[in-house]
Amino acid sequence: MKVAIVGGGPSGLYLGMLLKKGAPNWRVEVVEQNPSDATFGFGVVVADTGLMQLKQADDESYEELVGATAQHDRQVIVQDETPIEICLPIKGGAIPRLTLLQILEKHALKAGVTIHHNQRIESIDDLARWGLDDADVVVGADGINSVIREQFSKEFGTTYSTLSNHFAWYGTKKVFETSALVFRKYKGGYFCAHYYPYSESMSTFVAECDDKTWTSLAMDQMTNEERTHLFEKIYENELEGHELDPGPASKIWRQFPVIRSKHWVHGRYVLVGDALASAHFSIGSGTRIAMNDSIALAQDLLGSNDGIEAALEAYEKRHKPIKQKLIAASEKSYLWYENMSEWMDKYSPKEFVYRFMTRTGRVDDERLMSEFPDLAEKLEIGEQ
Ligand SMILES: Cc1cc2nc3c(=O)[nH]c(=O)nc-3n(C[C@H](O)[C@H](O)[C@H](O)COP(=O)(O)OP(=O)(O)OC[C@H]3O[C@@H](n4cnc5c(N)ncnc54)[C@H](O)[C@@H]3O)c2cc1C
Repeated sequence: MKVAIVGGGPSGLYLGMLLKKGAPNWRVEVVEQNPSDATFGFGVVVADTGLMQLKQADDESYEELVGATAQHDRQVIVQDETPIEICLPIKGGAIPRLTLLQILEKHALKAGVTIHHNQRIESIDDLARWGLDDADVVVGADGINSVIREQFSKEFGTTYSTLSNHFAWYGTKKVFETSALVFRKYKGGYFCAHYYPYSESMSTFVAECDDKTWTSLAMDQMTNEERTHLFEKIYENELEGHELDPGPASKIWRQFPVIRSKHWVHGRYVLVGDALASAHFSIGSGTRIAMNDSIALAQDLLGSNDGIEAALEAYEKRHKPIKQKLIAASEKSYLWYENMSEWMDKYSPKEFVYRFMTRTGRVDDERLMSEFPDLAEKLEIGEQ
């Protein structure tokens, strides 16, 4: 069995490792456009619920990932300059994206996966460069701009749309005490910063504003540097003089692309992770959703006695409802952010936090009271 995986992000590396560990005699190769010491983005949040699935799938890499994760037990939400602190029921953590990839790569290599770095494919024909054009399975693990998905977008039934809010993924040397979401009005604009520490020397800082703010404050006319300075000014109290680092990405400010594919499989081509469905960053779970796809696909490929076609079919049939629940939560979450100016104008800080916590429909009053008792008390839930 020969498996070609395009993309050495979390989903591609994890899939490669799981396949090779499960079937050491298979040929499993990953083609990745970046060198092994570079990636986009800074730290990513990985909640404990997500990590438990990784533990079940592969204890060895799980232990190392946990060891490299900075734990958060609290989150603060600030609206109208009023902070409300939330004790997190499940410990969450953040890990540098590069560390995450390097750990996964180490375990993939140890299992015997071949990884081709600095190699971008422009079409499936390029797989011939490594003798992978006749692979039994070709996996599109190549993220939001997937070449594999694009090549068969009609067959996958792919749809595209773009959210209106604008966001940028920064890092900063300010090591925040804990994870926070700070909603702030500034010169008539509506802004949000989501920041969290992910190492002893760095924090992630995701900056966001709505489209009306983008044009009314002439951010559309600004250079990236000017936008960065604007955010440094708006959040100067939090940053305490530290700069925002845009990293190497050239297009730092973006609008989130919503990409969905009706079909997950086309012949021997199959999609996982963001290539299949882009998960909005506001639920902080895109990485684990992507790695869960890899767990499901590896299980079906390794466990199949009825051939590859049946295994790929089983992957889609079995895993789709599970993934769709998480993607639906991500959709409700981004719709909430798309209207954040309305909520910032309309709600008191307590009401705002309540609406935020219940925005995806996955948390109701009962769950708030059982899992976030301190918050439920602050918000006076269940006292009417
Ligand atoms: C601002 C922001 C903040 C986020 N924060 C979090 C967070 O806190 N927690 C979380 O879990 N998720 C977060 N995410 C989401 C997370 O980054 C993604 O959901 C996750 O990386 C998806 O993994 P993937 O393996 O499917 O794709 P990717 O991570 O995108 O990996 C795809 C890989 O394929 C490679 N590639 C692409 N095209 C080609 C090609 N043609 N040839 C060869 N290689 C190619 C890329 O270089 C990349 O390495 C965030 C995203 C954003 C934008």
